[in-house]
Amino acid sequence: MSDKRVPLSDLAYDEEEEAAVLRVLRSRWLSAGPTVQQFEEAFAAHSGAASALAVSSATAALHLSLVAVGVRPGDEVIQPAINFVAAANMTVAVGARPVFADVVALNEPILDPDAVERLFTSRTKAVISMYYGGYFGQVGRLLQLCRDRGVPLIEDACHAVGATSALSEGRRAGNIGDIGCFSFFSNKNMATGEGGMITTGRADYVARLRLLRSHGMTTMTWQRDRGHASSYDVQAHGYNYRMDEMRAALGLVQLRKLDDINRRRRAAVASYRRHLRELPDSWTVPFADQDVERSACHLMVVVAPDAESRAAAASTLKEAGIQTSLHYPSIPTFEAFRGYESDVPVSREYGQRTLTLPLYADLAESDIEYVSRTLLDVARRTATSPPSPR
Ligand SMILES: *Cc1c(COP(=O)(O)O)cnc(C)c1O
Repeated sequence: MSDKRVPLSDLAYDEEEEAAVLRVLRSRWLSAGPTVQQFEEAFAAHSGAASALAVSSATAALHLSLVAVGVRPGDEVIQPAINFVAAANMTVAVGARPVFADVVALNEPILDPDAVERLFTSRTKAVISMYYGGYFGQVGRLLQLCRDRGVPLIEDACHAVGATSALSEGRRAGNIGDIGCFSFFSNKNMATGEGGMITTGRADYVARLRLLRSHGMTTMTWQRDRGHASSYDVQAHGYNYRMDEMRAALGLVQLRKLDDINRRRRAAVASYRRHLRELPDSWTVPFADQDVERSACHLMVVVAPDAESRAAAASTLKEAGIQTSLHYPSIPTFEAFRGYESDVPVSREYGQRTLTLPLYADLAESDIEYVSRTLLDVARRTATSPPSPR
């Protein structure tokens, strides 16, 4: 074992986050206060979306989005097989059926619009897109397919906070489809511990989402209308998915830093790409030919020639003190999703061969070199058979 330690991710925190939380604690106002509202307004402005609602997690955001667009038991929701499991779980939670579509290729593990097009049925009530690693893939085509059929597009934008697409006027993640979902979990580009955000340009969705976020209760509306809150109505079977003031305070500071955080993540990815050009041809570096400037650069992934070489690389890196991860096994391979038939050969292959390397704003150039060198060594050692023709 090496003494060196390179973690998978690290917070971009300093005294500012500490001071912001302390201010909230000293105000003695911990929930549903001015900080949450400020955070929502600042986030909406940054994303370009008309409205933003802070919630307790992206999973909550996805759940509320599915309910808000009217997905009901028996409906189908088309979504990528390569994603974190939250979107699929929430689809099942509302009684609908996740229909898994394949991703484009090993070097573009993002929803394939052609696959989506083949999967539309009369029961399709929503499509969920995911901007893997902070890249948009063919989101313009996906949006057009949804628009043509009048099916809402929900963006699982958890990897893409602050990313700018090539669509008209450079629309940002969360301001492309009908509803955008974001996570501020500890390892995301901006972190509040737990936490999430919903963005939308649709006023009808905002009203519904606001109601569902807080028990379906009309308290706020009532207060505004009557000037006091002697009673309230419950107009929907809602949840408690609110964010608290401490997290909103952290979120405000992180949002101010976001452009700089993303700029430093892009520089790290560009450096990784330069080093990893020397990988044997049997390895793939996803998105290597794509512009980092549009991406939020949430992940640095490589795809091994096969599952065995991935395992060998992961264990060699571990011995060298380098933490790695998997984003993600193909969802239909999970036990809980065995019942959902799907034809996703690229996703299955990707899930068995992908490996995620350390990436965060403060990752030192010397650590990028160290990780790359360690990976290059093991990749060359295990490249026993002649490189497969491609
Ligand atoms: C992190 C993540 C989620 C879940 O976010 P939580 O805030 O932990 O609920 C969902 N989808 C993707 C793509 C993610 O990366």
